Amino acid sequence: MFRRILLLLVLFMLVGCTQTPAPALMPTGPIIPLAEAAVPVVPTATLSPTTPPVTPTLLAPTPTPRPATMPPRVGLQVGHLNAHELPEELARFRTSTGARYNGVSEAELNADIARRVQVLLEAEGVLVDLLPATIPPSYEADAFVTIHADGSTGSAARGWKLATPWRASRASQQLLAAVAASYGPATGLPEDVGGVTVNMRGYYAFNNRRHTHAIARTTPAIIVEMGFMTNAADRAVLFGQPERVARGIAEGILAYLAQRDPTDTDALIPPDLPNLRVGPDGAVMRAAPNDEARRITNLEPSQRIFALELRDGWYQIFARDLPSAPGWVRADQVEVSTEPFPFPTTTNP
Ligand SMILES: [Zn+2]
Repeated sequence: MFRRILLLLVLFMLVGCTQTPAPALMPTGPIIPLAEAAVPVVPTATLSPTTPPVTPTLLAPTPTPRPATMPPRVGLQVGHLNAHELPEELARFRTSTGARYNGVSEAELNADIARRVQVLLEAEGVLVDLLPATIPPSYEADAFVTIHADGSTGSAARGWKLATPWRASRASQQLLAAVAASYGPATGLPEDVGGVTVNMRGYYAFNNRRHTHAIARTTPAIIVEMGFMTNAADRAVLFGQPERVARGIAEGILAYLAQRDPTDTDALIPPDLPNLRVGPDGAVMRAAPNDEARRITNLEPSQRIFALELRDGWYQIFARDLPSAPGWVRADQVEVSTEPFPFPTTTNP
């Protein structure tokens, strides 16, 4: 019991939360040894002292393959942790404290799970940076996983979902697939199918085009929404069996690290896609890249669209005033736009 009280004390100090969690929501899984639990969050200023602030650019830096003898490095970000310390460029997210349920903040839950994932990864020889909302400029790692939980105004919404950055490297897609394969079976939670929004993929820490305090362009990355704090069945796992949640994330990361080819540096480079406009005859936005897929909506001629991926003659896209999930348009229905095109604004779900 004493250890449990100490752990909660450490958690409070880390999260800087003044709320008292409802007793029913306290983690009941095995308590992490205090030595690990007290591992401080990596201070932003000291992690990459030699990395100059990035100037957003379209040119990809050439990634250097890491020597095989070097242990892999993984960044685990505690979503919303110390959001008030975010730098000026992200000042609009300083009050973005995430979901909340019955006095417990999302950051508290995220911190508990992230520390458990850290312990599991370190046991396998992985170097882990536990990161707050502010990440080091152009943060480099073999994987960056930002840990979040959802909230909804209704209590019915439930389940987990994962997303890559808007323009995802093959490595980010493989990281997502590996964690998706482990998380469901480990937690027993359902997937929130179709719940991934454009906003989720537009997570601020992914976006080195707009922000200095973001991952390097070549860092494989995903955002994990572990489940809904506002759903009783999800809460029973997130708070009652946090070790399963942590195992679901850690096993996926370890599987990704084991299966990737560290010499395949092409896998780390996100696609470089043109600015697009809908062609003169308009376009049809569909749920999948084929003509038989469900029609989401019709796009007006010359409407600006933002491309996420080019696959088999189809662009995955989103645009202002369109549904929150991305869709697909045929490449022959759009045109490359030569005018300047602002990169979409980022979010903090
Ligand atoms: Zn969040």
